[in-house]
Amino acid sequence: MKEPFLAAVPVLKKLESAGFEAYFVGGSVRDFLLNKEINDVDIATSATPEEVKRVFSKTVDIGIEHGTVLVLYQNQSYEITTFRSEAEYEDYRRPKEVSFIRNLEEDLQRRDFTMNAIAMDKEGNLIDPFQGQISIKNQVIQTVGKAADRFQEDALRMMRALRFVSQLSFDIEEETRKALIDLVHLLDNIAVERKYAEFDKLLCGDNRKPAIQLLLQTNLHSYLPGLSKQEDKINLMLEYKLDKLNKREMWALLVYCLKIEKTAIEQFLRGWRIPLKEIREIQLIVHYLYQRFEKSWSLYDLYTAGKEVFVSSEILYLVIKGIENQNTIQQYLQLYNGLPIKERSEMDITGNDLMDWFNKTGGPWVKETLLKIEHAILAGEIANNKIVIKEWLMACNHN
Ligand code: ATP
Ligand code: MG
Repeated sequence: MKEPFLAAVPVLKKLESAGFEAYFVGGSVRDFLLNKEINDVDIATSATPEEVKRVFSKTVDIGIEHGTVLVLYQNQSYEITTFRSEAEYEDYRRPKEVSFIRNLEEDLQRRDFTMNAIAMDKEGNLIDPFQGQISIKNQVIQTVGKAADRFQEDALRMMRALRFVSQLSFDIEEETRKALIDLVHLLDNIAVERKYAEFDKLLCGDNRKPAIQLLLQTNLHSYLPGLSKQEDKINLMLEYKLDKLNKREMWALLVYCLKIEKTAIEQFLRGWRIPLKEIREIQLIVHYLYQRFEKSWSLYDLYTAGKEVFVSSEILYLVIKGIENQNTIQQYLQLYNGLPIKERSEMDITGNDLMDWFNKTGGPWVKETLLKIEHAILAGEIANNKIVIKEWLMACNHN
């Protein structure tokens, strides 16, 4: 075994000493067997949430109704979920209520894919009743049990299958793929938030192009916000070299390929329930991307866009233009790093200073004068220094 499991072994031991069973489960065991970087170590236990809370001193209720308690242990946090079955599904969604059980195998049985239904005990022994290791070896995504049943229980699993195609470069097993094509319409019943979480991961996997192709082949895109009937435009994404792009850049590229009017971008992204802060970032990247098609970056553009946005817009520009050489980014970064100020708040002067100096009340002139000063500082005409700025203003009567 290796980290981060080793650090979590005492958590399993504590639960076991209290008389419960406890195992590592889910994506962490899968990624361990794949020799991939392990994100969060998830733990499954026979203890009920209340019992888990009695075993550990620091816990947070994060999803008690689904049986999940967050345990803080030696500066790490672990999601500990009670073995559960999800017998009654409604409307093709995951159930609102679950029943807690004391049996590991039944818990593994309710999991989506065989590769995700492997448990590992504190000694590193694997409990693998559904041959998940064979699926991992053969690189296939296969539902636990009959695919059609599992997708009818929770239609999101179909999207998860595609997201794993993107992240793991696995194929979808034959029966699972057939059921997916038959039942893809059930995704209409799934909350956008859950679709977004999976699509966001799909967009960024190493194998994102084949996953996007599969999205179109299975018609799954028709059940995603703003993507129905957009096959040709989504296809455009496949023409570009996508592997260097991060999440925001992928979303900005999607917006670009869909040829969404500037005024409609926010509405499209809101349709995905993307947090407003991220929507604004994506909008900015798209804005500067379009500007970049018209002209190269001025110092003032670099400044107003800010480092993250201009780098993202420039990367996208290069990808869309098919320019492999990314030297321009370094050059623009150098220019950016040389800017005397990076943000308006770094100016050594405020509106109050101006009103004091000129003994005038506020008004549009304050903003205008500040803008003039900002431009002069960025152009290197004056230093960002209160005394210098004042002299410059008085000398040219720039009020
Ligand atoms: P990641 O590395 O992205 O976290 P993961 O496999 O851990 O991947 P999670 O969404 O964190 O994915 O889910 C943890 C585990 O819970 C899965 O491995 C799977 O066993 C189970 N699971 C998650 N979602 C579902 C679902 N919709 N239906 C059945 N089981 C699920
Ligand atoms: Mg996980």
